Amino acid sequence: MGSTRKFRVWRGDENGGDLQDFQVEVNEGEVVLDVIHRLQATQTPDLACRWNCKAGKCGSCSMEINGMPKLGCMTRMSTFTEDETVTITPLRTFPVIRDLVTDVSYNYEKARETPAFAPPAGVAPGDYRMQQVDVERSQEFRKCIECFLCQNTCHVVRDHEENKPEFSGPRYFIRAAELDMHPLDAKTDRKEYAQASMGMGYCNITKCCTEVCPEHIKITDNAIIPMKERVIDRKFDPLVWLGRKILRR
Ligand code: SF4
Repeated sequence: MGSTRKFRVWRGDENGGDLQDFQVEVNEGEVVLDVIHRLQATQTPDLACRWNCKAGKCGSCSMEINGMPKLGCMTRMSTFTEDETVTITPLRTFPVIRDLVTDVSYNYEKARETPAFAPPAGVAPGDYRMQQVDVERSQEFRKCIECFLCQNTCHVVRDHEENKPEFSGPRYFIRAAELDMHPLDAKTDRKEYAQASMGMGYCNITKCCTEVCPEHIKITDNAIIPMKERVIDRKFDPLVWLGRKILRR
């Protein structure tokens, strides 16, 4: 049995916009994306919203629902009370293209900047061999669906456009950690690189990225903190310090 619910949706483009109110039918078992589709079908056919799989695996329908970064397809309407107004806004960290669609190019630029997997010379694809235990260590990070909710929520860039050039963000820290754990990735010291070139030092491990990850990847605990610790260990290790002193002479 359906009911009429209150929705407030941001409409606009790069020149500005505002929140518009709608009353819309909601049925049992529906998610926020269902309701957006109903709005498109019945009241506002030009409402722009990016989506694809509707199964929480393509990472397309990222949006802010009552101020929280979430996937529209994984947010059940039953989590709101009947009289609650559900407010839908575009991701705040990326420039708006139109309505709920943002330009996420920042993330693709950071992906391009991250040095690719570099196996030892002379080992052809197909000849890579590694232990199952090594496969399992980084499996968690390969669950990433690139929804960019972590990138959107990270306070280092959320209200600080000026930090974007130096800061790669949580999604790419887990990529660095994944490659750091890969026994065949030989070329780059991923921890040093993350610290020196990806802006890992900006992260003060508030765990907001972990909280919004729909894949429940422990971004902070399992990727960022271990990499930070090892960088620090190396920096303050008395033997390493002594070695550096001697070698500098
Ligand atoms: Fe999305 Fe999680 Fe991947 Fe970040 S780490 S892009 S929140 S799936």
